[in-house]
Amino acid sequence: MKFHVFTFGCQMNVCDSDWLCRSLTALGFEQGKEEEADIFLINTCSVREKPEQKVYSLLGRLQSYWNKNKDIFVGVGGCVAQQIGKKFFQRFPHVRLVFGTDGIVMVPQAISRLIREPDLRLSFLDFEDYYPERENHWPEKMPAQAYVNIMQGCDNFCAYCIVPYTRGRQKSRSSKAILDECRTLVSLGVKEITLLGQNVNSYGLDRFGDGVSFAELLCQVAAIDGLKRLRFTTSHPKDIADEVIKAFGDLPCLCPQLHLPLQSGSNRILKLMGRKYTREEYLEIVDSLRKVCPDIALTTDLIVGFPGETEEDFKQTLEMVEQVGFENSFSFKYSDRPGVRAEKMHHKVLEEVKVRRLAILQELQEKLTQKSYSQRVGKVDEVLVEGPSKKQDKGMKFWRGRDSGGRVVNIPGSSDQDLTGELIRVKIVQAKKHSLLGEMLEG
Ligand code: SF4
Repeated sequence: MKFHVFTFGCQMNVCDSDWLCRSLTALGFEQGKEEEADIFLINTCSVREKPEQKVYSLLGRLQSYWNKNKDIFVGVGGCVAQQIGKKFFQRFPHVRLVFGTDGIVMVPQAISRLIREPDLRLSFLDFEDYYPERENHWPEKMPAQAYVNIMQGCDNFCAYCIVPYTRGRQKSRSSKAILDECRTLVSLGVKEITLLGQNVNSYGLDRFGDGVSFAELLCQVAAIDGLKRLRFTTSHPKDIADEVIKAFGDLPCLCPQLHLPLQSGSNRILKLMGRKYTREEYLEIVDSLRKVCPDIALTTDLIVGFPGETEEDFKQTLEMVEQVGFENSFSFKYSDRPGVRAEKMHHKVLEEVKVRRLAILQELQEKLTQKSYSQRVGKVDEVLVEGPSKKQDKGMKFWRGRDSGGRVVNIPGSSDQDLTGELIRVKIVQAKKHSLLGEMLEG
């Protein structure tokens, strides 16, 4: 039987979906295209706007397959599943499984049961009181890049965020389990590992911590023989330890790249958001990072139009963005999420104001990205090739990869040799709008 997985949202969902695919393949199922699948899994996200509508419209499309063949069925997982739960069963006859973040571990076995018992519907929505370890079925060889979950959930309850409600409270995974997984991945050909968590800087600080701090974990993973690159995401500025900042100067395989969500440049709004740092503290972190790693590529998340945000608050965000000189940013208009504190806040900002502020912010970001990309021209860096580029030119084969700062680099090369997964030395020769052009160097 064939299955197809749809993934929305963050890298943690990508990581979860990869695990589901590997586990189902190990049970004898075959991954297939949407049109040929018998089992559909939707891994949902509710952090951004209108997530439910996206899921409902996809479920509507999948119902057309079910109308023709009543044996097909759908499992819905992730944040939207955690929120809507069993109500999916009432509305969609083809949904026979709903699962939350902790319930995912039971999905592969549940699918086999659902096939055997056609009238059965299953839901796994409870939060466990620990990090549920998953059995891994590794293929003989892994792609060069891999994600490793180090924790689940979040304790911060930022006023706009639904994650603590949909992913539960923070649960750190044991450092031994993380290290074992990283070692296995490297032995299977992985060259770059990204450690994942909602707030990696508070790794180990919950009651499931085993005494290893995030900085110590970074050192232990970086010491794995054969690992070429290490990254991590996401970081909360209030929790970034001096030792983690220092690691950017000390650990050769820790890539000079950090995603550090700022959200707003106004102290008043940061306070309303419950972020627990000020713009001054954020700038101090940036300063310290640049002292140990002058080339560090900083990216961020920004929200415009948080309830009560004035023109002056917004101006302060623009100033901060310019002052830090972010390499890139993900910026969004504030929108209510059910049950979060900000939903009940007064002084909601008008939609047209949010649209205007977002456009101004994104225009500024484009300029900053261009400036920082053009400063890369002439530099020599290592690029990990992800595969053939979309850009192909008059018989010339282009490869696409990422430099140490995480920037996309397109490289012309020969089509005789597959460079996928190779770490190659490249000289940057041109800055494009959203990518760089590089030239392969010998050796
Ligand atoms: S740190 Fe704040 S924004 Fe990030 S997941 Fe936790 S509550 Fe959400």
